[in-house]
Amino acid sequence: MDRQSAVSCQTPLETAWCVGRGNSPGPILLLGPPGVGKGTQAKEMGRLWGIPHISTGDLLRSNVTRGTSLGRIAQKIMNRGELVPDSLVCEIVSTRLQDPDTLCGCIFDGFPRTLSQAVWLENRLSALGFRSSIIAISIRMAQEQLLRRITGRRTCPVCQTVYNVNLNPPKREGFCDVDGAAVVQRTDDAEQVLNERVRTYEMLTAPVVEHYRALERFVSVNGDRSIGEVAVEIESAVARLRQERSENGGLCTRTEAY
Ligand code: AMP
Repeated sequence: MDRQSAVSCQTPLETAWCVGRGNSPGPILLLGPPGVGKGTQAKEMGRLWGIPHISTGDLLRSNVTRGTSLGRIAQKIMNRGELVPDSLVCEIVSTRLQDPDTLCGCIFDGFPRTLSQAVWLENRLSALGFRSSIIAISIRMAQEQLLRRITGRRTCPVCQTVYNVNLNPPKREGFCDVDGAAVVQRTDDAEQVLNERVRTYEMLTAPVVEHYRALERFVSVNGDRSIGEVAVEIESAVARLRQERSENGGLCTRTEAY
């Protein structure tokens, strides 16, 4: 479905949702090594801007939990800390982009992770009618801090709230504050798998960061501060880059049609 037909299939509610967002930030990528806080920031920015957060890691884990054929293939690869083939990841992103909540923009977390995913995304967004260019935000952090964060990470399997046993523990040790479920460690957060994930990041994803830097659609922010401070810096960086490019995110200009 192209973006034009996606627009014409909208319900009045979806149209109203989009009309109110004339200054959407457009498509944003959050890049950075595992554990740097991309997911936390993506949720924060999604709330702020009223656009969805698309995490390929979450989409893949949801396929694993539901036992889909894609999930069965992905699980073994994810447990080794390697990347799932581009074709599978692009397929789930393509499906997610059909949902009308992406019409005014979205925040990608953990995607693209290879140069070929980056090229695919540029083409896909332009085919869907996105008018403003992708902006990439890279979050950076020192290696030992990353290790502390990721090996301490625990997630509630019920509501997906993320904790850190060192930095942000649940009130009752081992149990989620929201629903009381026992929190778990992601299998790929174990130290041996993490080393492979960091190696994969440096080999395959660092070139994606360089790609956007070369295109001058890139900003790097220091992730070793409070969630709020990092969020403020991301927000102002996106506004500055859009201004420099004389863009406002621009996706909702098709509201002229209504
Ligand atoms: P994340 O939650 O983003 O750390 O992703 C967890 C795992 O899912 C990664 O280690 C990969 O195995 C897989 N994965 C997530 N996003 C991608 C992607 N864009 N390309 C390939 N594999 C991915």
